[in-house]
Amino acid sequence: MSSSGDWAASEAARRRTFAVISHPDAGKSTLTEALALHAQAITEAGAVHGKAGRRGVASDWMEMEKARGISVTSAVLQFAHRGCVLNLLDTPGHADFSEDTYRVLAAVDCAVMLIDAAKGLEEQTRKLFDVCRHRGIPVITFVNKWDRPGREALELMDEIEREFRLKPTPVVWPIGDAGYLRGLIDVRQPGQMLRYTRAPGGAHKAVEAPVPGQRAVLEDEADWSKAVEELDLLRVDGAVHDQEAFLTGRATPVFFGAAISNIGVRLLLDAIVDLAPPPGPRELESGGARPVDAPFSGLVFKVQANMDPAHRDRIAFMRVCSGIFERGMTVTRAASGKPFATKYAHSVFGQDRSMVDIAYPGDVVGLVNATALRVGDTLYAEQAAVFPPMPTFAPEYFAVARPADLSRSKQFRRGIAQLDEEGVVQVLVSDLRGDQAPVLAAVGPMQFDVVTARMAGEFSSPVKLEMLPYHLARATDTAGAEALNRSRIVQGEALTRIRDKAQLALFPDRWQAGSFEREFPEARLDHLIAAH
Ligand code: GDP
Repeated sequence: MSSSGDWAASEAARRRTFAVISHPDAGKSTLTEALALHAQAITEAGAVHGKAGRRGVASDWMEMEKARGISVTSAVLQFAHRGCVLNLLDTPGHADFSEDTYRVLAAVDCAVMLIDAAKGLEEQTRKLFDVCRHRGIPVITFVNKWDRPGREALELMDEIEREFRLKPTPVVWPIGDAGYLRGLIDVRQPGQMLRYTRAPGGAHKAVEAPVPGQRAVLEDEADWSKAVEELDLLRVDGAVHDQEAFLTGRATPVFFGAAISNIGVRLLLDAIVDLAPPPGPRELESGGARPVDAPFSGLVFKVQANMDPAHRDRIAFMRVCSGIFERGMTVTRAASGKPFATKYAHSVFGQDRSMVDIAYPGDVVGLVNATALRVGDTLYAEQAAVFPPMPTFAPEYFAVARPADLSRSKQFRRGIAQLDEEGVVQVLVSDLRGDQAPVLAAVGPMQFDVVTARMAGEFSSPVKLEMLPYHLARATDTAGAEALNRSRIVQGEALTRIRDKAQLALFPDRWQAGSFEREFPEARLDHLIAAH
């Protein structure tokens, strides 16, 4: 191991790269802010060899962002806590939920599953959890909004165990039902309760103070006893934190709190430092793995094109997987074997970009003007590496694309091919139509907005999109294809071909898919990755 290998390994050891997976409105933004406030946002403070950023550039980043009033920039927040560097990668949700949301999970080592105490598991959380499970990403659970009436804590534990076949192991447990929070118990310090009081000066962030259990018993006896009994019950049931079970995706340590009042946030932050794994060896396509102390390698997990014609640059988000990344170094793009210059490497902090000079395993770097880079690309220095390709995810939205102006069909084909290659949407070819009317498939409808904007702005070929009434895709075989063509359930675009020749069966919903399966038991229908 070289000395730079040692250096990379020691920096990797103190990094935690994670994402928050949740359904919109569960409190992801609130929690992110609370975490960053609690910790020390180092990119902002410039402690990471940062130079003054090109402020203002970000403001014209994607016209669409302004038009829609939503943030489509997958931001990376970097902050320090107890000697560790935490990289929090944003997972866009709601209207901007897209394939990129899933891809972010290819770049993290751990996920925090944020649950609304009143709602429990919700659709988007389920989808993102599926991806975590598939990729073997360990999950920490944070039950939020305990300051508001909600479900029973034990009931929520049951739901997680039943639905996800994941053992919830409380590390922090609430005293008092949702809406009547008295404090929290850290199960590692039983007999003590953490009490939260409003900070002086009118701030609504609560101050945490430990109170001996004895006093807690005197003041809030019923709630305290209930919490202790519940914890006993769970302990008897084997719900005790087990690091190995957590890291292998069989158990999830559970925390409770209220992000809005800063309750339980410090405990979560500590858990990310103490329990979440640091960057480790990354699997290679050829088998084996690239250790963090190997020469530099990185994975491009997202490419974002600027919609603004005046700033038609492209930023590739790369996670450093091994070694040390230094701005200005020339790296090799594995897919082409060609060199790629990294003069304009940035750290991307919310809306702001600033130069980054050095980055370590687990860190994310934004490579500007990265027209040559694609989602799933491996970059490396010295010693060749290729990471497995980025999986495609089960699309849920489908639309037929046609050129608005038939005289521009050449530009149309070129544009669609480019967007397909970049992974902006999945392009399916129907037996019934040629490549003048491909079926575009997406995980979220916003991907279609990107297609529309880029086809008009970048390829001078405005498109017309016709939404198809399908929301479920299954991989099938020849027998399935034949059965589908015979069946009356789905007509027209029922059967399409994805670019790698796999045959896809499209259904309006899972009930239709179910009745098709019953009618044609010989037809094979496979769940695609992340399909639910
Ligand atoms: P996101 O969509 O997941 O990013 O959710 P937000 O952070 O925007 O929060 C959604 C709503 O829930 C906002 O009105 C927040 O103020 C509120 N909220 C977030 N955390 C808490 C909490 O701990 N307690 C309560 N009562 N409200 C919260």
